[in-house]
Amino acid sequence: MSGNEKRILTLERQIEKVKADIDALSDLRRGSLSKQYNICGSPGCKCKASPPKKHGPYYQLSFTKNGKSSSKFVNKKNAKIVNQQVKNYANLRKLVDKWVELGTELSDLRLLEQEESD
Ligand SMILES: [Zn+2]
Repeated sequence: MSGNEKRILTLERQIEKVKADIDALSDLRRGSLSKQYNICGSPGCKCKASPPKKHGPYYQLSFTKNGKSSSKFVNKKNAKIVNQQVKNYANLRKLVDKWVELGTELSDLRLLEQEESD
């Protein structure tokens, strides 16, 4: 087996692994989740003490939809779930990039093999 053929098999196996990893992803969403602490309007509130005890944390999801950036608050109970969904999306992007990278090398090798067999 030629070096190219071996490399092709390796790349094919790696691509299968990427596909399986994508298949295993669960719920996903675009955006980033941030944690915030706020100051309220009540005079004498603990959030204005020294040192201040701000209100929160509040979880805010920022995302882009139809080219417009937007955000919404997420309650504490859902913050963990939303955080995982955001991570899943980031993982998907990473896996797609990997697939494209492996796939490009594989495609180049297939062209070489084609030329050699002509
Ligand atoms: Zn306050």
